[in-house]
Amino acid sequence: MSSGVDVLLVRPHHDQGLSLLAGICCEPLELEQLAAVAGAEGCRWAIYDPLVDRRSLRRVLRHTEPKLVAITGYHPMRLVMIDLARRIHNLSPAVVLVAGGVDVALDPEAYTQSDFDVLVHHGGAVTFQVLLAQWRRTGQVAKVPGTLHRPRDGGWIRQAPQAVDSTTLPPPDRSHFLNHRSQFNYLDYGPVALLKSAYGCPYDCRFCCCKLLNDGHYAARPVLAVVAELEGLPAETVWIVDDTFLADMARVNVLAAEIERRGIRKQLIIYARAGEVVRAAASLSRLKQMGIVEIIVGLEAVDPERLAAYKKQCSADDNARCIALLRDAGIRCIGLFMIEPDATVAEFRQLREWIRENRLDVFSMSIFSPFPGTDDFSQYRHRICTDNPRHWDLRHLVMRPTHMGRLAFYWRFYAVSAGILRNRAFVWRVLSRRFNQRRRPHA
Ligand code: SF4
Repeated sequence: MSSGVDVLLVRPHHDQGLSLLAGICCEPLELEQLAAVAGAEGCRWAIYDPLVDRRSLRRVLRHTEPKLVAITGYHPMRLVMIDLARRIHNLSPAVVLVAGGVDVALDPEAYTQSDFDVLVHHGGAVTFQVLLAQWRRTGQVAKVPGTLHRPRDGGWIRQAPQAVDSTTLPPPDRSHFLNHRSQFNYLDYGPVALLKSAYGCPYDCRFCCCKLLNDGHYAARPVLAVVAELEGLPAETVWIVDDTFLADMARVNVLAAEIERRGIRKQLIIYARAGEVVRAAASLSRLKQMGIVEIIVGLEAVDPERLAAYKKQCSADDNARCIALLRDAGIRCIGLFMIEPDATVAEFRQLREWIRENRLDVFSMSIFSPFPGTDDFSQYRHRICTDNPRHWDLRHLVMRPTHMGRLAFYWRFYAVSAGILRNRAFVWRVLSRRFNQRRRPHA
């Protein structure tokens, strides 16, 4: 890590214990994007990523002596972000503290009692670039559109957002990934790099906060820029973290042709919807040829009424067909399910049987948790029984179950989740990768 930087980019972290997700450690793509923006503005920067860097915050601050620190994170990291700001403010009172990321975008007011000086509530990396340009020019971080700013001696001032276009941002800076390559793994794949080829989601699933990001619009990056970035990535496996990669099949076909033309051979992991997979049935061999080895599908539920209430625009039959089509095409399907706190014993049983019948070997379950800033949060506010943001890790109940006690709910939730252990080969591969990762703390 460089000494004497202008900008320090910090990933908040707390140990999440044992879970299937513990087999996932990804590069901080959001910070690497901010790093690219900082570099473009002529700033010296460093990333502090406690997931792969065991040094203390105090030591990092002493070493880097930053003038501005930016921290981004999701809702479960809210308290960690606020605590980091407090500690940085105590250790280095002159540092300008900037908060951004999904949680700040959805609920900026929650950070107004913290030590942050600026909250980026709109425009993400584009707004950060404008902020850095102004800061470099004038030394001021006030009045940047899409931010809330607090002068050290006054209250918060909100600046209205302006339209931004994230698709023209420079590609993320991968120096951090290169320095810690062996640490960044996804289940039984690794090293795995992340790539974002589009922003926002064109769908409207009721529970989802992703659809609110990027002003609620889907915007795809130019194909040539995406393929050039893919080609240059220092990893054989790439997880494309678009909300849904198959949203525009005409574009996917152009991407596939360009990847083929350049002779790029990488393993690709993507997210897609069951309905999209079913509609793309005739193109699945092409997707496989393009390098797609795994599709993560938000199946959510198997009960038709639940699917309709979620506005998923797909049926339980689509979900089953999606699994079968991907199996036949030799592409691994990972199914994501969501359990409602009002799930009945029969629903848990129905889900377990459905997973078995459809021979879904790899899946992950989460507990429905309405996120602050969404309509669902307002609707369920009166039922929320915790104010600890860490409980929004989708493994905790944030609302009381209605048809059984909490313990009984957790017991059934983990009993169904444990079905994945039947896939012993997969579990063994994940554990081996994790074990090897621990033995190799640095690339
Ligand atoms: S659940 Fe997926 S498809 Fe639905 S709105 Fe969210 S990101 Fe889009």
